[in-house]
Amino acid sequence: MIDINQVTKTFQQRGRENYKALDDVSLTIKEGEFLSLLGPSGCGKSTLLNLVAGLEQAKQGTIQIHGTPARTPGPDRVVVFQEHALFPWLSVLDNVAFGLKQRGVPRKEREALAMEQIKAVHLGKFADRYPHELSGGMKQRAAIARALAMDPQILLMDEPFAALDEQTRLILHKDLEEIWMRTGKTILFVTHNIREAVTLSDRVLVMSTRPGKIKKEFLVQAARPRDKADSILMHLENQIMEALADELEKVVKEEMGDEYSLKTNPVHHSATDSLGGGI
Ligand code: ADP
Ligand code: MG
Repeated sequence: MIDINQVTKTFQQRGRENYKALDDVSLTIKEGEFLSLLGPSGCGKSTLLNLVAGLEQAKQGTIQIHGTPARTPGPDRVVVFQEHALFPWLSVLDNVAFGLKQRGVPRKEREALAMEQIKAVHLGKFADRYPHELSGGMKQRAAIARALAMDPQILLMDEPFAALDEQTRLILHKDLEEIWMRTGKTILFVTHNIREAVTLSDRVLVMSTRPGKIKKEFLVQAARPRDKADSILMHLENQIMEALADELEKVVKEEMGDEYSLKTNPVHHSATDSLGGGI
């Protein structure tokens, strides 16, 4: 349903050479699939997600959703970012109902629809609270409820849990999996966390950097709901780590220049490690 065909994205940089963030990327995302883009910081994950969202445009290549070019944002896609971006002056209920209000849905109806989604993310008791009264995890739940209230076919999630502590993140993984299984939405999920990608996805695409390309594809054929002790998941994590080792080395080398030598500075990493900084 999402067809990305030979997309190359170049950013113009003032006073510097143009920067090729994505180079000849092609992939198809099936309807109802949970697909993750995984790779070190700067490899073009957000750029690819923003292209699918219609927030960026590529001069080369095409992106189609059900055969329609994704040149501008549309009601079939909603993005959830790392920063929750809730309106601080609105309650959870009004935040979640906001998009429906924009669409002209009458108050009673939009509040009922919003409450349904708020309950689905276990925030029922907090509907009248304001964002500053919520924890980080609760804010992200509210952001997910707001996205779901619009009933898009596609959820685009850009490192939505990257700023959360490990416990909260694990709970939100369970919740998101439950939402995905119940609603059958297509989810494009961006992360630099190997375990997160493996735990949540049907398929993980590992990206390489400079320029951004799809390097390798991994199918996650583990039973749902996922069990973090599943040996299939652990085995995949190791395989992905190996696929990423060269990429991490590339990033570190670029940052440290000649001072870097793999022999004297082995790159230690575990599956829960970040592959570089935030966004
Ligand atoms: P990721 O999400 O994987 O960390 P991004 O897609 O944000 O990576 O960025 C990929 C590369 O493109 C980075 O090197 C980044 O600096 C560059 N880039 C992203 N957006 C712009 C922009 N608007 N102008 C110039 N360069 C950009
Ligand atoms: Mg990013």
